[in-house]
Amino acid sequence: MPRAEFRSTERLRPLMADYYRGLGAAARDKTAPVAWCTSVGPAELLRALGFEVHFPENHGAMLGALRQANDYLPRAHALGYSPDICSYLSSDVGAFLAGRSPLERFGLEGVPKADVLVFNTNQCHDVRHWFEFYGRAFKVPVLGVTSFRDVDEVTAPLVDAVARQFEDLVPPLEQVAGTRLGADRLQATLERSVACSRLWKACLETAARRPSPLSFFDGCIQMGPAVVLRGTEEACAYYRLLLAELEERVRAGTGAVPGERFRLYWDGMPIWGKLKDLSGLFERLSACIVASTYCNSWVFEALDPADPFRSMARASLELFIARAEGPKERYIERMVEGFELDGLVFHDARTCPNNSNTRYGMPGRLRVRLKIPVLTIDGDLNDLRCYSEEQSKTSIEGFIEQLAEP
Ligand code: SF4
Repeated sequence: MPRAEFRSTERLRPLMADYYRGLGAAARDKTAPVAWCTSVGPAELLRALGFEVHFPENHGAMLGALRQANDYLPRAHALGYSPDICSYLSSDVGAFLAGRSPLERFGLEGVPKADVLVFNTNQCHDVRHWFEFYGRAFKVPVLGVTSFRDVDEVTAPLVDAVARQFEDLVPPLEQVAGTRLGADRLQATLERSVACSRLWKACLETAARRPSPLSFFDGCIQMGPAVVLRGTEEACAYYRLLLAELEERVRAGTGAVPGERFRLYWDGMPIWGKLKDLSGLFERLSACIVASTYCNSWVFEALDPADPFRSMARASLELFIARAEGPKERYIERMVEGFELDGLVFHDARTCPNNSNTRYGMPGRLRVRLKIPVLTIDGDLNDLRCYSEEQSKTSIEGFIEQLAEP
């Protein structure tokens, strides 16, 4: 039986295209100030101040998905950026140095020039170095939140410390935006972000059904609006449409992987340039990756329009990537139960130790404690030199054979 395509994608493409064109127009015609933001940074604050928001990680993922990243990495390496650091950063900077961008297909001449760059180190410190490169290139301010990492419990003092930094961003951002932050506007933006989060979460949770109507590979495409358009009504409208289609699939028993036999979890970054190949490989093996922490990273349950700064701080601290091994393991354990998983696949992304949970023994601990088969794949988000197609294929096939054993 052939794989069913998503009808919603017909709406997704123009939605994303409009977003990119809007960014381009704002930068070119100066119709709105442009802010660059880390993917789990303070986007709501920026939208409430009237910024058009560009997310460089989204741009990096485009370079990876289009298999252009490796063309540009050497340019950043030649400038002194190590091959071991984030390959989103180095491919994005390399493309900028080459004067090229996948956004050209949407009529932009390159990445939209920033008026300000705002990072949050809750995910990693590479983002700061990344934004500082562009701050120097564009001669514009770089602002940020220096957050905690390896967080065990999200306590009130941690929330207070980050909330104060969010508040401190407001005056310099108001200066760049040329307007004051309206409390009602921030509240309305947060309300839309909360709605978007809930809808996206509901979409992802349909994958708990058998067969799962959605795979991790679908999720990597479908999450676009949750990443770049959160805080907007357009994102909410899209996820209402997608959720209705997913519920229809559940009612009809339409699986993302026809003949689903095995249900897996994916940990860590996608391998953007191999998304389609890996999706096809798992599909041929009747295995559906039904859960991931990656796609869930844009579910911000803590956001509360009635308590904007503290709730934004809490959401940023509760993020999976920012947590210590203990809470991460408990989170994965809940996924194993909730999604009735048969196995765990960990991606050790060479240039992203921050989102690779393979390096301090977690896969082995989970294998023993949860009595579940575990596979680790070596690769990278963008640098395909770190990924061996043959080796991965052999490992994945062997892993699925192991799951099939009685
Ligand atoms: S979390 Fe990883 S992939 Fe994302 S910006 Fe940081 S180093 Fe790069």
